[in-house]
Amino acid sequence: MDKLIITVAPNGSVPTKETTPYVAITAEEVIEDGIKCWEAGASILHYHARDKDQKPCLDYDYFARVMEGLRKYTTLIVQMSTGSRLVQDRDARVRAVDLKPDMMSLNVGSINFPLGPYINKPEDAEYWAGKMQEYGVKPEIECFDASHIEAGVRLWRKGLIDDPPFFDFVLGVKNALSYTPQNMLNLINMLPADARWNCIGVGRAQLPVSTLGMILGGHSRVGIEDNIYYSYKVLATNAQLVGRAVRLANELQREVATPAEARQMLKIKNS
Ligand code: ZN
Repeated sequence: MDKLIITVAPNGSVPTKETTPYVAITAEEVIEDGIKCWEAGASILHYHARDKDQKPCLDYDYFARVMEGLRKYTTLIVQMSTGSRLVQDRDARVRAVDLKPDMMSLNVGSINFPLGPYINKPEDAEYWAGKMQEYGVKPEIECFDASHIEAGVRLWRKGLIDDPPFFDFVLGVKNALSYTPQNMLNLINMLPADARWNCIGVGRAQLPVSTLGMILGGHSRVGIEDNIYYSYKVLATNAQLVGRAVRLANELQREVATPAEARQMLKIKNS
């Protein structure tokens, strides 16, 4: 089995300081948390931009500042989110691509989120994939639904996504695909032979999804974007969630990849 690549997602677009004091909101907080998570064993850091009111945004300077800090103090693979439920401008979603991060999230299909529909048109997904390829950015293909795997495969077959395609299952979002081991197995069966895959469990699904991913040969994402708790009513820090993933992998005798090893496995071009 491949070594395990652990991704941490320290902020997302929803949790605020009122939800948990441990969410990283400012660029400086994302960098500080990134250092701790890197020391704890994470290889990839996935982040969103926030404004001074903690609201999600697509601020170019925020993306740039975080990347600069992570490059300076860590060897983490830098993964920027292109997600936005409110911004329909396809160029705005991918504007930071010319900063040449290592990776960006790529949304390939629409879905219902708890707060409303999340629209990602097929022609926009094709445009974003093309932009990422132009700048040597590895896409993380986000799959909230089985049809999103098929959409990602279509882009890969068109030559818009380089090998190996890296799929990410997102399970447990209210109104989208729920978490069951059977759903996970069905998604794995839809992947092309040489694909790599990661898994995200939202809320209470984070622990079982990330653990089952380790057992089945996938990779795991943890962090406050997806889940704010360590255990029942006990809030987590991002580094604690990464630390637990490392300990679980050790117990399961699955070696954890370093960022350098993860770069090789995913054939990441930028650095
Ligand atoms: Zn995200």
